[in-house]
Amino acid sequence: MALKERSPGTPKTSSKNPRVAVRSIDTYAAQCDKCLKWRVIATEEEYEEIRSKMEESPFVCNRKPGVSCDEPADIEYNATRTWVIDKPGIPKTPKGFKRSLVLRRDFSKMDAYYITPTGKKLRTRNEMAAFIEANPKYKDVNLSDFNFTSPKVMEDTIPEDAARKVSSSGNGNKRKALKDEA
Ligand SMILES: [Zn+2]
Repeated sequence: MALKERSPGTPKTSSKNPRVAVRSIDTYAAQCDKCLKWRVIATEEEYEEIRSKMEESPFVCNRKPGVSCDEPADIEYNATRTWVIDKPGIPKTPKGFKRSLVLRRDFSKMDAYYITPTGKKLRTRNEMAAFIEANPKYKDVNLSDFNFTSPKVMEDTIPEDAARKVSSSGNGNKRKALKDEA
């Protein structure tokens, strides 16, 4: 998954109110298990489907209609946008609910939450359990399908000015260690 951070004027698909600068996902991508190229995935739903089955059926280029490993990559992994990498196996979001991710201002972390069909924002599985209990209409929704694991923010794609803020707050050594590994 990637989010474009360098062009604040661009309306973001995931932000309904353009006046609110919410840093959320604007592009979904999956990496081919064979050629390692990144392919853009058109919708969040399709992306979630791929992510939920990543371990049993790794993504390959030809899952996209008319695309093969010979085609150039749709998108390159680099610092022109900030990338966040999801843990594989996160279940597909139950119908009617929406999973949302927002990047903290200091780029330290993404926070995962769910929006219920009634527009409520829930941040923990306990809140979700309470919601389902209070709304018997959703009693068939499986609580284990809600996963609040946030994706890893890739430090090598954090904009320079944000990175400085991160290191001045004491994470400088950690940053360096990650860079050295890469
Ligand atoms: Zn491929």
